[in-house]
Amino acid sequence: MYSETLCHSSVAQPTGAALNSAHPAAIAGAGAPLLSVVIPVYNEEAGLGALFERLYPALDALGLHYEVVFIDDGSRDRSANVLSAQFERRPDVTRVIMLNGNFGQHLAILAGFEHCRGQRIITLDADLQNPPEDIPVLLAAMDAGHDCVGTVRRDRQDVAWRRWASRAMNLLRYRLTGIQMTDQGSMMRAYGRNIIDLINQCKEVNTFIPALAYRFARNPTEVEVGHEARHAGESKYSLYKLIRLNFDLVTGFSEIPLQVFSLLGIVVSLLSGALFVLLVVRRLWIGPEEGGVFTLFALVFLLIGLALFGIGLLGEYIGRIYQEVRSRPRYLVSVILERKR
Ligand code: UDP
Ligand code: MG
Repeated sequence: MYSETLCHSSVAQPTGAALNSAHPAAIAGAGAPLLSVVIPVYNEEAGLGALFERLYPALDALGLHYEVVFIDDGSRDRSANVLSAQFERRPDVTRVIMLNGNFGQHLAILAGFEHCRGQRIITLDADLQNPPEDIPVLLAAMDAGHDCVGTVRRDRQDVAWRRWASRAMNLLRYRLTGIQMTDQGSMMRAYGRNIIDLINQCKEVNTFIPALAYRFARNPTEVEVGHEARHAGESKYSLYKLIRLNFDLVTGFSEIPLQVFSLLGIVVSLLSGALFVLLVVRRLWIGPEEGGVFTLFALVFLLIGLALFGIGLLGEYIGRIYQEVRSRPRYLVSVILERKR
């Protein structure tokens, strides 16, 4: 009845050519579902049961042709088994893509994008923080003609430092990239097929999907959705991972940080030049300087700190360029569970 497409360590090229060589537009052709729900899963075994219990009834109630595409992002717990069992239960509307390692939430979603067939695509987290019952709100916004629907989490249920950091990053992102998103961390979003086809053409390794989609959107909008505490398990984002993700966002969509450093370099050079002239004149008129050594230290440390930050920032860009030029496959698909069409 269904095919279990096995493809060990197949290289999922950015076009998704490994297992399904058809072009995305062709994939979305005749008989394609109207809606694809793309869900990345990493070590979520404890919460998946509850997700299925709420997600499938919510989608069935829509009364339209849909598919759910789960991407197992190299989970080390039993998530893959739980997903396989769910595929056995609902093979008509379920597809599971198993990746060969942990590639991160955004690459997992990109793997889902390359394999989904719907005309409209909604991304959702697996931890039930985004209520699946709010899917109709996003679809209604698409009915109103929007091709990219972002969300703002009502009453956000995350720890305080995450909420504050998020607010600061939202502001910084807007200043640096000009991308308008009230709540960049909210990953429950809806995209039209036009946007997904464009995203599938991008080959970048480090990316931030909502920002990329915003760049391609003709008529984006935002709606409010509910937010709940994580149903089970823990957040997969440590402070370190969050910082890396925000660097991906800033470096991927703006060169302003580099330009700020060039400008800062010019200003500091001019000031040091003026200081040099001042010291020479002072030496000639008043005599040799004494004391002030700690002021000098403070100044030097400040400048060294700035220089180190600048080098680090350059490194962030160069490291990403290095990853892009190596052009290794972005992720590896090991198995796809799907019903033969
Ligand atoms: N996730 C993933 N790969 C990762 C980390 C997370 O696929 O390396 C998935 C995770 O299973 C969840 C979603 O991405 O479905 C969001 O992760 P999480 O809830 O931990 O993030 P938070 O809500 O704390 O920002
Ligand atoms: Mg979460």
